[in-house]
Amino acid sequence: MNDSQQSKPPAIGLEKDDWIAWLTGRGEPAFRAGQVLDWLFRKRVDSFNAMTNLSAGLRAALAEEFRLNPLESATQQGSTDTTRKFLFRLHDGRYIETVLIPASPALYGENSDRRTLCVSSQVGCAYDCKFCASGLAGFTRNLDAGEIVGQILEAERIGGERINNLVFMGMGEPLANFRNLTKAIRIINADWGVGIGARHLTISTSGLAPQIEKLAEEPMQIRLAISLHGATDEVREKIMPVNRKYPIDRLFEALQIWRAKKSQKITFEYILIDGVNDSRQQAEILARRARSVHAKVNLIPYNTVEGLPWSRPPVRVQEAFLDVLKSGGVQATLRREKGHDIAAACGQLRLKQETEEGIVEAPLKD
Ligand code: SAH
Repeated sequence: MNDSQQSKPPAIGLEKDDWIAWLTGRGEPAFRAGQVLDWLFRKRVDSFNAMTNLSAGLRAALAEEFRLNPLESATQQGSTDTTRKFLFRLHDGRYIETVLIPASPALYGENSDRRTLCVSSQVGCAYDCKFCASGLAGFTRNLDAGEIVGQILEAERIGGERINNLVFMGMGEPLANFRNLTKAIRIINADWGVGIGARHLTISTSGLAPQIEKLAEEPMQIRLAISLHGATDEVREKIMPVNRKYPIDRLFEALQIWRAKKSQKITFEYILIDGVNDSRQQAEILARRARSVHAKVNLIPYNTVEGLPWSRPPVRVQEAFLDVLKSGGVQATLRREKGHDIAAACGQLRLKQETEEGIVEAPLKD
């Protein structure tokens, strides 16, 4: 592939209106947008040439201007709990990770057919949370809308099953890639696109208050998860530098705005780190905070990251923390983890790079 081919936009990153504009600009009728989208998202063809109800000239023009598939599957790892991690190679040679978490009867009941995909929004991350693997090698670039949508199509192609639940909890800070994120979720949600209902889409953020307020303006009933990890500025600031920019009170102003627009409960993600944020006092303050915005809390025992000093508290401390929340009237769960053994659990996703020996972990930052 030469450079000009590599920089072609992915066809699955265009919305219906973009297709109508592109097609009518070439003298084609607007209804062809529906035909193109049908080939891309229903029939999932592997070449523009296979779009047989379009003229040969139009198929050639499409191939000239767009890339069909923005991702190449590099490796795949299974986990003993059936979580699967995919490593995808982007057109510029960068890598991202996507994790498929199949239904768990233990979590969701015997008949659950919930298949969750955890997608990345950026290559690397700039937010430098002290406990997280994703930011260790720094920030490289935003994913475009097609690269976000492509993670779902590829995971469905490889796995042979439809994804029906999506969480933006892979690599990157989704709200720092706002324009591409919102474009991607419109494509993911649309009937002419991937067709996953808005209530099955969760955006997770480290707490970018102004962008939360902006996202609240989007008409879809998407869900919001906040990576809180500390109930006071003092604790949160130690582990999440973003808290200096948007302290907890500022974050909660944004959450009140969100609540006024959306009907679904906000989720607080709270990883329990031994001796850092697991005190009874933090639990009590967290309970008050959660009540103030009617949030539910997901407690996640910290997953060890090689090269980082943190660890999880003993189970009895985890359970005591949970009890404080519950007796404070807060809906809370202690997460049973998935994918720990393949480093695909939350916060273990890390940029990979290719060397002559194959795929290796990116070097740790000093
Ligand atoms: N930047 C966004 C999206 C990433 S979500 C955000 O922060 O929400 C990834 C989730 O995994 C976040 O809740 C993050 O705080 C959590 N996480 C990061 N490192 C972790 C670790 N080592 N163990 C458990 N959870 C971790």
